[in-house]
Amino acid sequence: MRCECGSERFSAHQVCHHDIFVDGSGQYTGEQAVYYSGKPFGPFTCIKCGAIYEELETKETVARSNEGCSI
Ligand SMILES: [Zn+2]
Repeated sequence: MRCECGSERFSAHQVCHHDIFVDGSGQYTGEQAVYYSGKPFGPFTCIKCGAIYEELETKETVARSNEGCSI
């Protein structure tokens, strides 16, 4: 969907799993790969105008963020 401002880019959330390296004591030493799983979920924030949508399909506007929280 397209935001009312014309943008099609949104900030969203997604669960991901990281495969990592550890040393002999189990301490993190580095990252191998990241696997994304699951569907991205909201709230979806338009990166251009800051409109916030709960779902992209329904185009339901939750709020408009003008609070200056940067991405
Ligand atoms: Zn927008």
